Amino acid sequence: MSLKFLIAGFDGLRPDFATPDNMPRLAGFLEKSHTWENYLACFPTETYVNHPSIFSGVRPERHGVIANSFCYEDEKRRMHLFAGFRIDSVMEADALMHGLYAVPDLGARLAREGKRLRIYCANSPGSTRLQHVHASDCKGHLNAPVHALDQTIPAREAHELIRTHGKGVPLEFPDALGTTLTVDLFFERELKDGPEGLAEATVLWIGEPDHSEHELGLFSDRTLEGLRQADREFGRVLDWWETQGRAKDIQLVVMSDHGHVEVARHADFEEILENAGLHVLTGSDIARGAEPRADDVILIGEYTSGIWVPGKKRETLEAVRDALMNSPEVGMVFSQPDPDRPDAREGLIPGTFSEGLLSSAHPRGPDIRFIPRGDPETGRCVMTNALALGSARTEDSCRRKRMRFSRFRGAASPASDAIRNPRRMKTLRRPS
Ligand SMILES: [Zn+2]
Repeated sequence: MSLKFLIAGFDGLRPDFATPDNMPRLAGFLEKSHTWENYLACFPTETYVNHPSIFSGVRPERHGVIANSFCYEDEKRRMHLFAGFRIDSVMEADALMHGLYAVPDLGARLAREGKRLRIYCANSPGSTRLQHVHASDCKGHLNAPVHALDQTIPAREAHELIRTHGKGVPLEFPDALGTTLTVDLFFERELKDGPEGLAEATVLWIGEPDHSEHELGLFSDRTLEGLRQADREFGRVLDWWETQGRAKDIQLVVMSDHGHVEVARHADFEEILENAGLHVLTGSDIARGAEPRADDVILIGEYTSGIWVPGKKRETLEAVRDALMNSPEVGMVFSQPDPDRPDAREGLIPGTFSEGLLSSAHPRGPDIRFIPRGDPETGRCVMTNALALGSARTEDSCRRKRMRFSRFRGAASPASDAIRNPRRMKTLRRPS
């Protein structure tokens, strides 16, 4: 039997959270296995940037999925918004840009060799699709979002899944249902003919702790509950691998895509630009069909934010740079590399860093990109109010938001319960 890979992903799992207390099965597996520590997430470190890197093997400067959300023009120069959490947006961008990935992805490369990639994922439906955009064109491949099984490709397998599991399970916090269904489907469908029937690459992508950390905070008891449940489900896979899969030369790989930081407070970057006399359009404006005028600037992103200036007017670009650099809320400011000095530290806009330093430069990229400075007292992050501070999140509000997928994948709200009750921090330790 040829070498096969079973990849288990835990979205947003920081290495320091995978302790024997929180995740005994994963910690035990790591202890006995080879671990890779010399890695670096992409810039910006968001799910819909890191996943294309995981599933293509290259940085955003080559795959071109440059942010969770960004704007782009179609051939008729109409502006569109890419929003990675929505399948329709992923597929629209793929069609209008003649390939969302600018390079062949893992699924396409395996298909070319007559091999298969099969994915079950508990992230948002768009995030799932991004792991294998063209699964339906590849024989025997699968892309199945467990929270929206009707959006599975290919359609034949969607029908089978709907027959047995309906449209999948609702997203709750923690996402115990999604985690369990991801693992159940592996046993039910991928192992029904024994290990010999497994695809060359199978992905089981668990949405925890990411879902809960966004919704409940990093250090909440319920986030920890989700982490422990995810570990128990991983334990079912590990039991099978240790007793059967390993002997068949199946390689079990565990990975994550990024970590999380806490939101210290909010800042209004739109206001910072408007106070400098600039007229700002947001991603929502673009999604609603707004047509930018020559003197508009487009601001997209809640943490690392991109700014697009239609016509790339030098005067406007410099006004944006000055407004950002004069604000105490703004940290580093980047622009695309200067074509005359592609290796320079300075970007095309004087005084800014080049995105070439971060392997994130791309023609789809923003004219200017910045990250907030962060909170100097605590080192925690400052961002827009897209994610509430932890104290605003109650159990009740979580129940009402069952299928809400956060658009922001870089940070989580602070855990008010851990602040009130430091005893709870014993297992999920706050970074110093
Ligand atoms: Zn993620």
